[in-house]
Amino acid sequence: MSTAPRPYAGGPASLPSACSAALAHVRAAGINFLALDFDLTILSIHTGGAWPSSPASLSSHVRPLFYHLISAALAAGMSVAVVTFSPQVPVIREVLALLFPQHASRIPIRGGDRSWSYEGGGSAAGKQAHMASAVEELGEGGGGGDITRASTLLIDDDANNISVALAEGVRAIWLNPKDSDRLLENITDMI
Ligand SMILES: [Mg+2]
Repeated sequence: MSTAPRPYAGGPASLPSACSAALAHVRAAGINFLALDFDLTILSIHTGGAWPSSPASLSSHVRPLFYHLISAALAAGMSVAVVTFSPQVPVIREVLALLFPQHASRIPIRGGDRSWSYEGGGSAAGKQAHMASAVEELGEGGGGGDITRASTLLIDDDANNISVALAEGVRAIWLNPKDSDRLLENITDMI
């Protein structure tokens, strides 16, 4: 059996514990739901919603930081969703299944594929409808506790989505795609 790490599980040896520590901080602040953008956030690249190759090859572009952060969140029983404008939801679903085979089925994906709509009264700007719709699905599963705007953390490289979320009372942190290593620091500083 090969013990070679998969590319997305890489990063410095200290990364898993650093991610767990940041997650503990997030949970202590009352956050129980991570809403994560895909292109240039979970991924180190932007697919333009038109990835031409296999999900396996796309999975090698997942930032190790997000692999470990999501792993820690799922292990802690937190809710996690992918909120994206990409229409390639089936590809994203397969990437998640490769990375998190035990948990992928409980990660809602809200993308630009017109497979869902949000009829609630909240804002539809930025990722607001994506998050609200994901929360509706997560609520159907029960467990995990009630999710509110104040218990949600959006991480996204698009500053507009962050501004909209903050204006709506959702906690949100901008991921600098050119300096993603700063994210853990920003989480501990800002929450
Ligand atoms: Mg993005």
